[in-house]
Amino acid sequence: MNHLEIQGLTKRFDLSSPPAVHDVSFQLKTGEILGLLGPSGCGKTTTLRMIAGFTPPDGGEIFLEGASVASLPPERRRIGFVFQDYALFPNKTVLDNVIFALHRKKRPLRKNRARDLLALVGLSREEHRFPHELSGGQQQRVALARTLAAEPELILLDEPFSNLDAALRESTRADVRSLLKCAEMSAILVTHDQEEALSFCDTLGVMNAGTLEQTGTPEEIYLNPRTAFVAQFLGRANLLRGTATGSTARTDLGEIAIHPATDGSVLLSLRPEHLTLLPLTEANSPDDPPRITSREFRGHDLTYRVKFRNREFLVHTDYTCDYPPGSAVALAPRRPGVVLQEPGLCF
Ligand code: ADP
Ligand code: MG
Repeated sequence: MNHLEIQGLTKRFDLSSPPAVHDVSFQLKTGEILGLLGPSGCGKTTTLRMIAGFTPPDGGEIFLEGASVASLPPERRRIGFVFQDYALFPNKTVLDNVIFALHRKKRPLRKNRARDLLALVGLSREEHRFPHELSGGQQQRVALARTLAAEPELILLDEPFSNLDAALRESTRADVRSLLKCAEMSAILVTHDQEEALSFCDTLGVMNAGTLEQTGTPEEIYLNPRTAFVAQFLGRANLLRGTATGSTARTDLGEIAIHPATDGSVLLSLRPEHLTLLPLTEANSPDDPPRITSREFRGHDLTYRVKFRNREFLVHTDYTCDYPPGSAVALAPRRPGVVLQEPGLCF
């Protein structure tokens, strides 16, 4: 059975504007971490708040362990919420912040349980400190310990790492992920950061303007984006028009392989690392060949911008594929172009 199932969740705050969340459906298995990824304003927080019970939906159903939660107030849903700003009590110590969340437990047991939770998040030595005496990453871990204290069945994390600087964000992310995995907690992480979504989550849902455009594993979505929005939001993508006949299409880059096979006018996505640069030969040399406008050494790869037929292609190659800016080259796909669902969309 799915731990959480959402069916057709919809919320409209204001009749004169489009719904903040429209017909969103997804499932979450026990112990799974799902990422809800999308730009600011696309409805991520509203979706979490409806699941937690803070915002009443206008339509749709939410099932926890197969039972509808519609009639349950937030405190009876057994759902923990970690907010972006941690929401710790500033005048309570770390230990007291966690003890406060243990109100279900018998009073004499609370202190020991709070200490166990602080040990779990690696903060035993900070128990007598106040929140302002901790780093952002430590405050984040207190917030998590406090959420775990309430023994939720599901944890909702709303952009929990966005206040941390880059180095701390990566290590806190890894710590929190292993904590959730050790505790076999189901969780939903809301983020607008694609790298965070890819590294933290088992499955992803990409949201755009209130709707869920695609769900799947990070690999599925990255390698087979369904729409131009998804292709461009999760990673970088070169979009290319073409005319398909079965598993090939005629495009500006010549006849290229495509996936899945189709016929007619298509919009294709090619990731920058799925293109490569080749020396020009008589066979692949058009009158006005692709030309490198910039070359960036990025350590793990080279990033080229290549101008061809009034547009720019982004190409990631390994650094043995080395051409100076200004070179004329041939552009060649290394994987089939992915056929997107909305051929009318602009580049
Ligand atoms: P995200 O978390 O993806 O940035 P939100 O869920 O916060 O997006 O917001 C989605 C849309 O709903 C936005 O247009 C936002 O302005 C609107 N919205 C969110 N909360 C409210 C509210 N309480 N009242 C009116 N509009 C709201
Ligand atoms: Mg938000």
